[in-house]
Amino acid sequence: MKYYKMFIDGKWVDSISGRSFESINPGTGEVHAIVAEAGTEDVEYAVKTARQAFENGPWARMDPSERGRLLYKVALKMREKAEFLAEVESADNGLPINETKLIEIPATIDVLEFYAGMANKLSGETLASPMNRFNYTLREPLGVIGAIVPWNFPLMLTMWKVAPALAAGNTIVIKPAEQTPVSILELVKIFQEEGLPDGVINVVPGFGHTAGNALVSHPGIDKIAFTGSTRTGQLIMQSASENLKPISLELGGKSPNIIFDDANLEDAINMASFGIYFGQGQVCAAGSRIFVQDSIYDEFIERFVKKAQSIRVGNPLDSTTQMGPQVSNKQLEQIEKYVSIGIEEGANLVTGGERFTRAGDGYYFTPTVFENVTNQMTIAKEEIFGPVASIIRFSDEADALQKANETIYGLASGVWTNDLKRAHRMARGIKVGTVWINAYSFLDSGAPFGGTKQSGFGRELGVQALEMYTQTKHVWVDL
Ligand code: NAD
Repeated sequence: MKYYKMFIDGKWVDSISGRSFESINPGTGEVHAIVAEAGTEDVEYAVKTARQAFENGPWARMDPSERGRLLYKVALKMREKAEFLAEVESADNGLPINETKLIEIPATIDVLEFYAGMANKLSGETLASPMNRFNYTLREPLGVIGAIVPWNFPLMLTMWKVAPALAAGNTIVIKPAEQTPVSILELVKIFQEEGLPDGVINVVPGFGHTAGNALVSHPGIDKIAFTGSTRTGQLIMQSASENLKPISLELGGKSPNIIFDDANLEDAINMASFGIYFGQGQVCAAGSRIFVQDSIYDEFIERFVKKAQSIRVGNPLDSTTQMGPQVSNKQLEQIEKYVSIGIEEGANLVTGGERFTRAGDGYYFTPTVFENVTNQMTIAKEEIFGPVASIIRFSDEADALQKANETIYGLASGVWTNDLKRAHRMARGIKVGTVWINAYSFLDSGAPFGGTKQSGFGRELGVQALEMYTQTKHVWVDL
C-alpha cells in the first residue's frame, strides 16, 4: 500500500501526531493509499513556513518573468506526465479515464500556462496629479494563501488557485479534500522537481473540521480561497470574520439548462446529457434543472431518456467507461435519499434511480431522469451532486426566465435557441456567473468563472482571479 507524507517547507513529512487516514478508490471501494493526516500543529508549521517563504524567500522578490518561466516548466513536465496524472486522478476520485485524460488534465495544464504567461503582466497605474506631486499604484501579492478544495476535480480546482496565486508572487498552503488527497500530492512533486523554492507550496491533507478549520482561523493566512458546499462556505465566512480575512467562495449550484423549441434538438440533447452526467453529476455547474418548452417536451423526454440509458457506467480506469462511480458511499446514499424524496413529492422517475451493481463493489449509480418536476420540489431546489436530471416544462421566454431564476443559487446556465436576440436577452436576464449559449460546461482559462447569490462570490480563472490574489498600494510622491 502506498503511503503519502504531507509536503511542508519543500520536504515530505509525517504528521506531528503520527496520524494518517485512508484514501479509497471509489471504483473498487478499496483503500488505495494511506495519507499522513494534518492536525492543527501541522497547519501551524505549514503556515509558518509559507510565511517565511513569502517574507524572506526569493519567490515574491523574483523577476516576475522568472516566476512565469518556472510555472511553464512545471506545465511542460505535467504534459509529459499527463497519462500518469490522469490515472492517479481517476483512481482517486472516480472520473472516467477518458475524462481525466482528455478534459481535466489538459484543462489543468492550460490554466497553469495561462497564468505563467500572466506573471509579468501585472501592472499598476500612474494617476493624473498636479505638478507638485506624483501618484502611482502597485499591485502586490497578498501574502500567504489558504486554499481549500473539494474532491470532484482535485487537480484542476487546485490549479485554479495555485496558478494565479503563485504567478502573483504569493505562497500557498493547500488543504485537499479528505476523499482525494493523492493526485494533489503527486502534482506538488512536479513543482518540487522543477525547482520551486521551499515553502512556496505546502500541502496539509486532512479533514475539514480539523485541518481545514485550522487554516481558516489561522491569523497568519492572508486570504482563503475556498471551493466546496454552500454550508461549508457559510462556516468559513463566519470563522474568517474573526480576523477579517478576505475570502473567495466557489460554492454549489442548481443550474438551469433551458431548451427552446427552435433549438438544434440533437445538440441540445447531447449537451444537456453531458451537462448533467459529466463527472457523475458531481459538478458544481451541472445542468441539473433542464427546462424544456412545451411544444418539444415529449420528444425531448423520449430522446433524452434513450441517451441516458445508453451511457456506459463502469470502472473509471476502463477506457470504454462513460460514467464512473460517485466519490463515496456517503455521496451514493445522499443521492438515493433524493431519489426517494423526488418520488414521494410526485416527480415521475422515468429511468435510473438505483445503484448500478454490475460494475463491481464501487459506488456506482444509474443515470437518472425525473420528469414532471416543479421548482417547488426538493429535487429541483437542493443540490444533489449526482447523475439526477430534473426536467421541468415552460411555456415561453418570460416563463423560462422566471423559473430559471427561482433558486437560491446562481452559478451557471445554458440557453438553447437559434433566435440570436432571445439568446442575448436570456443571457442578460439570468442571474448567474456564466451563461452558455448553445453549449454547456465549457471553460476557458481566460474567462472568469464563479457565482452569484448563494453560489458564492469572487471569480476564478481569467485576469479577475489574478487580481484577487493581489492588492493595490497607492504611493504618493511629493515633488
Ligand atoms: P465540502 O464543503 O464538504 O468540502 C470542501 C472542502 O472543504 C474539503 O476540503 C473539506 O475538507 C473542507 N471543509 C469541510 N468543512 C470545513 C470547515 N468547517 N472548515 C474548513 N474546511 C472545511 O464540499 P464537498 O462535498 O467536498 O464538495 C462538493 C461541493 O462543492 C458541492 O456543493 C459543489 O457544488 C461545490 N463545488 C463548487 C465548485 C465551484 O467552482 N463553484 C466546484 C466544485 C465543487
